[in-house]
Amino acid sequence: MVGEMSCIFCQIVAGKVPGEILYQDEKVIAFRDINPQSPTHLIIIPKKHIPSLAHLSEAESSLIGDMVTVANQLARREGISESGYRLVINCGKQGGQLVPHLHMHLLGGRKLSDTLG
Ligand code: AMP
Ligand code: ZN
Repeated sequence: MVGEMSCIFCQIVAGKVPGEILYQDEKVIAFRDINPQSPTHLIIIPKKHIPSLAHLSEAESSLIGDMVTVANQLARREGISESGYRLVINCGKQGGQLVPHLHMHLLGGRKLSDTLG
């Protein structure tokens, strides 16, 4: 509980920290990244606090499909469906995850790097 109360993304879900929320339903919420790496840079998360992909149980795995569905809808809304985009989930320290609440990045609006790091 302590971890969740100090989680920045849980605070956005709870409306305690402002976010430019673009979509929400009972399971998923999406908002604009505060430090965008591309013209479109959105964050899609489960409302439930799951610390990372490595903590996702088999029973919860359909959430990833829900997040992809939302990402595809938002890509259309942002006008980058045709030009192309990238969905990224960083997991853990070496995977580059900074916020310990499972999230998917939707990046697009420019030609992205050919390398994945
Ligand atoms: P990651 O490195 O995969 O953990 O990415 C975390 C992302 O969350 C970064 O792109 C941050 O810019 C973004 N971020 C952190 N705090 C906020 C916030 N309050 N509102 C929106 N995006 C945020
Ligand atoms: Zn959280």
